[in-house]
This record gives sequence, C-alpha cells and structure tokens, in this order.
Amino acid sequence: MKKRPLGQNFLIDPGIAQQIIQLAHIQPGEPVVEIGPGKGILTQLLIQQTDSLTAIELDPQLSRDLQKRFGDALSFELVEGDAAKFDYSSLGIGLNIVSNLPYYAATHIMKKLIHYRKHIRSMTLMLQKEVVDRLTAKPGQRAYGSLSVYVQYHCEVQRLLEIPNTAFSPTPKIDSSLIGLMPLPQPRVRVEDPKLFFKMVNSAFFHKRKMLKNNLKDWRHLFNKENGQARLAGIDLNRRGETLSLDEFADLANYLHAQNG
Ligand code: SAM
Repeated sequence: MKKRPLGQNFLIDPGIAQQIIQLAHIQPGEPVVEIGPGKGILTQLLIQQTDSLTAIELDPQLSRDLQKRFGDALSFELVEGDAAKFDYSSLGIGLNIVSNLPYYAATHIMKKLIHYRKHIRSMTLMLQKEVVDRLTAKPGQRAYGSLSVYVQYHCEVQRLLEIPNTAFSPTPKIDSSLIGLMPLPQPRVRVEDPKLFFKMVNSAFFHKRKMLKNNLKDWRHLFNKENGQARLAGIDLNRRGETLSLDEFADLANYLHAQNG
C-alpha cells in the first residue's frame, strides 16, 4: 500500500458515517468542529446538524475542494491549517469536536484538545483500535499505562463503536474504534500538584514490567519499610504501576507533595 503522508485513509461506508454522527449527540444550536474533513463524508452530515461548523484541514487540495462544495453555506467555515496548532479557545465554549483523526498525529491532536478542555463539551474521535484500548484500559489490564491515566484524569471516556479497516479507502492495515471523551468539570481525583502527579505517573510506567520500588527511585529517600517491604504513602512498592488506580496515584503524588512542601 502506498504510504499516506497525512494519514489519508478516507471513510467510505455511509452507514458508519451516519452512526458516528448519531453517537456524537450534537444538540441543536451547539457549535461543531471537524478535524480533517478530507473528502467530506462526515462534513455533509454535520452541516445538517448545526448552524456553526468549523472544519480544519491541512491538505491544500482537499481544502479547495471542501470550500467549493460547502463554502456557500453560512454555517460553514473552513480553516486550512494544522489541527495540532490551532487555537480552539478562539471558537468560544461548548465545542463538539468530531473527527476521524489521521493516525500519525492522533494522540498528539487528542492531547492538544484536552489542553483546551474548558472550551470543549464533547469529543467524538475515531482512532486506531490499539490507542482506544489504552484510553479505556482499567488498572490490571495490559493496555493500562500513563496515557490511560492522563485521559481518564481529565475526561469521562466511553468506547462507542468498532470500525473494521474495510470501511476505509485505501484500506489501512489496522482497525479503528470510535471513542467519546467528555471533559470533566474537575479532574477525576484531587491532586495538589498536577505536574508532580504526571511526573510520578510517567515514572511508575517507565519500565512497565518493573516494580514501583525500581521505577520510583527518584523518591527513594521517602520510602519506608514495613515488615521488610518498601512502602510509600502506604502503598506496597513491590506492586507494578499498571495495578494502581487513579486514586492510588493521587495518594502517592499528594504524599510526595506534602513531603516536599
Ligand atoms: N474525515 C475524513 C473521512 O472520515 O474520510 C478524512 C479522515 S483522514 C483519516 C484524516 C484527514 O485529516 C485527512 O483529510 C488529512 O488530510 C487530514 N489531516 C492530516 N493531518 C492533519 C492536521 N495536522 N490537521 C488537520 N487535518 C489533518
């Protein structure tokens, strides 16, 4: 298969396009942002759902075609540019993001959107299945890692739909899944110092198969021993990071914060 430099695998199944729009649950009057509209299979449906649709497309030729096709509609605005660099706060609040994200930049763009979470009501995103496995993973599951913690800390996460690779042209090697992310008004767990929290979470998963006592060596001076077992904030450091819940990560980070502060 020819390499698509901009992740241009276009959805060609109109039934799946309809399902995606229904699952996005856009309420009348709410603004919508589509990232990477491509040849417009979702755009043509979204434009009927809202009186404000902003579409951000990086490819100049596709942008010209989209402008020709939808440019007359007053509700439609095309931005030719990089969705990873766009200032979403310029569009106000209550945004509903809908996208079949380009694989090469999917995680990067999703993190950017989470950065703008105060402006966003919902994200309905199609991503590679393996990434969605990570976003929805619970403690103890193989796919659970720092990305699961990051996204679940900020958002309500719902797996919505499985999409086989045959729904795209050209056919990619991998299957996709649709996910719904709703930014939470407050993070899921109370954390005194979010920077320290994420530093510690990233360290805990640094060597996935290693125990916490090996991954959290930066804080070794704070370890204590109970019955010969190393512990931190009451957590047994013979455990692996992949077994810790968000609450337990928060307990660890808040303990470290208290010790330094
Ligand atoms: N929405 C269309 C569909 O479902 O068929 C196209 C999806 S295709 C997987 C990804 C689209 O994103 C392509 O049109 C590609 O040109 C565009 N794209 C790639 N990188 C982008 C970026 N950084 N910012 C905005 N659009 C981008």
